[in-house]
Amino acid sequence: MRAEALIDLAALRGNIAALRERVGSAGVMSVVKADAYGHGAIPCARAALAAGASWLGTATPEEALALRAAGIGPDQAPVLCWLWTPGGPWREAVAADLDITVSGLWALPHVLDAVRAVGRPARVQLKADTGLGRNGAQPHDWPELVAAARAAEAEGLIKVTGVWSHFACADEPGHPSVTAQLDAYRSALEIAEAAGLRPEVRHIANSPATLTLPESHFDLVRTGLAQYGLSPVPEVGSPADFGLRPVMSLVARVAQVKRVPRGHGVSYGLTYTTPGETTLALVPLGYADGIPRHASSTGPVWLADKWRTVAGRVAMDQFVVDLGGDAVEVGDQVVVFGPGDRGEPTAEDWARAAGTISYEIVTRIGARVPRRYL
Ligand code: PLP
Repeated sequence: MRAEALIDLAALRGNIAALRERVGSAGVMSVVKADAYGHGAIPCARAALAAGASWLGTATPEEALALRAAGIGPDQAPVLCWLWTPGGPWREAVAADLDITVSGLWALPHVLDAVRAVGRPARVQLKADTGLGRNGAQPHDWPELVAAARAAEAEGLIKVTGVWSHFACADEPGHPSVTAQLDAYRSALEIAEAAGLRPEVRHIANSPATLTLPESHFDLVRTGLAQYGLSPVPEVGSPADFGLRPVMSLVARVAQVKRVPRGHGVSYGLTYTTPGETTLALVPLGYADGIPRHASSTGPVWLADKWRTVAGRVAMDQFVVDLGGDAVEVGDQVVVFGPGDRGEPTAEDWARAAGTISYEIVTRIGARVPRRYL
């Protein structure tokens, strides 16, 4: 074993239970896009459903269809996907009973063509852009979209199962856009209801809103990062503060150990020079595996019972750690990140070292790193 990502499904189940408790009567949509943020979509979706998540969410329809192909049928969970383009698999989505997000009038003809071809009504969720400025219909287009959807529903072609939106700054509690978006969302809901739509689910909350803004919970929360046990608001609370436990640990085996003299350069660019005679350990992971090159000279690892820092640049497949006087052997375990309770760094520590967010750290752990489910 060169390296592996250990995926603690018991932790994921515990996180779903903690989130369910937090949201009371609202449901939990387990967001499993991007291969469940690098954790593995199918095993994580199954674990989340077993722990009481009632919906699954993906970005692309292809991701949603893969869940259905793996045997997660409509009887087990409704699946919402939100990133549609004109050439998308509209017919397959209708046939698989996916919830199709309609973000603008342009999308409705694609849905209706698919409905006629497949011969069954489509489940549709309308998305309002309440301020994020990505997909979703603008307020000035919303009444027309709602009216068109209502007309299609009256003809029995679609069922509008949801009306939803997404926050821009929920991870900055107190940001004025958060209340502005909530107000805009309530207005969008009023317009939909006045037009006769009766959506089963109204939802706007992502992980930070789920953890910090109870009035945003409505019927359903869409949680990604929190279910993987990471805090979307590290300055407000750690995972443990929210009753969450990190799901992914990344470990590797030391691939080489060598003594080098003082003044020896290390890795591309020779940006690190050994301050004295020392021992170097080679860690067989690099940016091809998702270790951020931006964490050159800053990324932390846990090796021989101590926190160490990457020496010099992270390369495509390997990086080096300077052990000073400590001894390790080829094959010893390096913990790149984990839950943090043995002193090891966390994904959040790597995010800080690389100037990014923990979402990116776990999501980018590459396909070359096997996942092992615990
Ligand atoms: N909902 C939508 C539309 C998203 O794009 C995402 C992820 O970015 C989520 C929910 C989940 O966000 P988080 O991981 O913060 O819970």
